[in-house]
Amino acid sequence: MDGVHFVAGTPNAYIHEDNLLDTAGEWIGKYGSSVFIVTGRKSWEQAGTRLTASMEKAGVSYHIEHYRGECSYEEVARLGKLVPEGTELIVGVGAGKVIDTAKKLSIDLRLPLVAVPTLAATCAPVSNLSVMYTEEGVYIDFRVFYRNTLLVLVDTGLIAGAPVRYLAAGIGDTIAKWYETLASSSGVSGHLPTVGGIQAAKICYETLLAHSAQALEDAKAKRSSKALQQVIDAIFLFSGLVAGLGEDNCRSAAAHAVHNGLTAIPEMHHAYHGEKVAYGILVQLALEKRPMEEVKELLDFYTETGLPANLKQLGLNRALSEDEMAEVIRIALSPQGTMGNMPFEVTSEALKEAIFTVEDWSA
Ligand SMILES: [Zn+2]
Repeated sequence: MDGVHFVAGTPNAYIHEDNLLDTAGEWIGKYGSSVFIVTGRKSWEQAGTRLTASMEKAGVSYHIEHYRGECSYEEVARLGKLVPEGTELIVGVGAGKVIDTAKKLSIDLRLPLVAVPTLAATCAPVSNLSVMYTEEGVYIDFRVFYRNTLLVLVDTGLIAGAPVRYLAAGIGDTIAKWYETLASSSGVSGHLPTVGGIQAAKICYETLLAHSAQALEDAKAKRSSKALQQVIDAIFLFSGLVAGLGEDNCRSAAAHAVHNGLTAIPEMHHAYHGEKVAYGILVQLALEKRPMEEVKELLDFYTETGLPANLKQLGLNRALSEDEMAEVIRIALSPQGTMGNMPFEVTSEALKEAIFTVEDWSA
């Protein structure tokens, strides 16, 4: 970021409400009358009919494109060629990768972004960055942008209706903010935007610890509730605020770096982003040699929320080969990743040892 600290913490407007899809068109219409929608097939099945009905009612014209499953440079370039002239807004409807794709497209075209999340699985709707992958889903890098989303429309009922495993993954991704922010902001003091970012991470941590169990129960019953609302706001709004305020002082650290490394293992493509990140938190705690008491508390929380505490629970029913381990470590330590935000140097030996330590914790 050229050494300049800027704050892009909040979207211009963030609205959460049950059944918001039915009035989403009105909100979108306040900002533009011609929109380009990027969405996934499943997301569109859930949200498309109600969203288009409300846009038609509000006189908003739309063009819909389905993305092909990865937030890649190629995919963003492909979509860019399909955007009709006169388009005023880019609208991302779906999970994190769809919204990151729409976000990168909106930046490339210098058009504002509207995010309509269908799952609370990552902080993508309110983070001013896109995580980029290859067409095969292997992590490449992340791009930070000088602005946040124009409008975030969260239909709590829609998210309550999504499979509950996504919400658990979102909880994993968001609780990581606390541990990673502490690591990446270490040594910074008296810088108020950074203090704000750390406080936002703390709000995420405390909210999730207090309300996740209830929120998951409500989501299982497909019930929009106060606990679910609080957890969703932690996952989207406060999680986005962390780096939005603290920027490079409040970035991801070891947990996300380990997640990136795991994307090299084919079986891990079935594990969700937040599940791999949750596992990565444990590796970070092992690297930091945190007291066992603290580790136990988090492991109990994982049991309560169904988050994975080892590679087997992430879907790997075999040992990693030497070559795979080397590749996981190579990507996790890549300078394009976030391991460099740890307050100490992480060597490949230390990382390998931390992975084995985490396996031992739940053996
Ligand atoms: Zn994440």
